[in-house]
Amino acid sequence: MGPEPGGELGELLSIGAFARASRLSPKALRLYDELGLLPPAQVDPANGYRRYRLAQLEQARLVAWLRQLGMPLARIRDVCGLAPGPAAEAVAAYWARTEADTAARRELAAFLVNHLRGKETGMDANRGRTPAGEPRTRRRLEIRYAALSDTGLVRESNQDTAYAGERLLAVADGFGGAGASAGAAAVEALRGLESFDGGALRPGDLLNALADAAREANRSVRQVVAAGTGKDPAGTTLTALLWTGSHLALVHVGDSRAYLLRDGALFQITHDHTHVWSLVEEGRLTPEEAESHPQRALLVRALDGGTDCEPEVGLHEARPGDRYLLCSDGLSAVVPSDAVQDALAGAPDPGQAVRDLVALAHRAGAPDNVSCVVADVSLRPVP
Ligand code: MN
Repeated sequence: MGPEPGGELGELLSIGAFARASRLSPKALRLYDELGLLPPAQVDPANGYRRYRLAQLEQARLVAWLRQLGMPLARIRDVCGLAPGPAAEAVAAYWARTEADTAARRELAAFLVNHLRGKETGMDANRGRTPAGEPRTRRRLEIRYAALSDTGLVRESNQDTAYAGERLLAVADGFGGAGASAGAAAVEALRGLESFDGGALRPGDLLNALADAAREANRSVRQVVAAGTGKDPAGTTLTALLWTGSHLALVHVGDSRAYLLRDGALFQITHDHTHVWSLVEEGRLTPEEAESHPQRALLVRALDGGTDCEPEVGLHEARPGDRYLLCSDGLSAVVPSDAVQDALAGAPDPGQAVRDLVALAHRAGAPDNVSCVVADVSLRPVP
């Protein structure tokens, strides 16, 4: 889509005329020239005046529209170098990613707005104690939960860890020689959050606590790996939810998953930190192609004791009737999501749900360890 060769000199427009026609300022046109987004058809060697061909208007408008989308300049340069078909795919992939990022930040933004306005959310109602020193009893929501971890039908040992407690829900899928210990150590490191004081759960504290806990888990994994035989790399995924009384805060690294069943619909609320999933996000693979890709389990992020541990963190406002699922890939890789949705929707309680889900994995051959944690959010009677 760059300028085509040839063309009559008479078609050339001054930068001012071209700016008016393209709705871009001369200053912007000079910047885009310097960045290689839109080189002029001719630069006068004597005075440096830039001249543009009429045929460049289409590209100029494309640049302007992509700027309006908020696309970074480097990415616009890539799109402008593509034929129309691939350019369309690149814009679609960029926008899908933008919407996913925005959705992930929406809940956090709403939470912060509520907090700063001093609205009485469930979380605020839980804070601290009454003036008489009694614990506040105005909590309106509660969770009920169950966890089940199973070796499956092929593996000799279970390297997964599943945990569910009053505040913490977690699944870890260990890999490598010390994988089972790595997963158990990561979950154990998070269990400090179980004793987290509800009164301290201000947003900054909460996010800091999660980030600290993930770093702590990574340090624990490092010790396990160092104590192992050495040559065999080991590590673990970690997907956990921390219950605050009104929200579920997520910390996630790897390809275990968190789902939310709300109003009968199933939403995956984590990204898989895998090589193939990053190809899907770049628009280079379809989700269907990713599911059968031979390298679908290759992780780009895991707790392996390394220096860069970048957990995904999120915040989800709880509603009565919500059902959350954490699972290792031993479930999600072999049981289609519509079957997971049916099992979750049909089970009367979390205990039955985790048993039904593991049974589905068995029916699919259970080639891997399979772990499920299910938690229901419900209204709690006010005393
Ligand atoms: Mn696994």
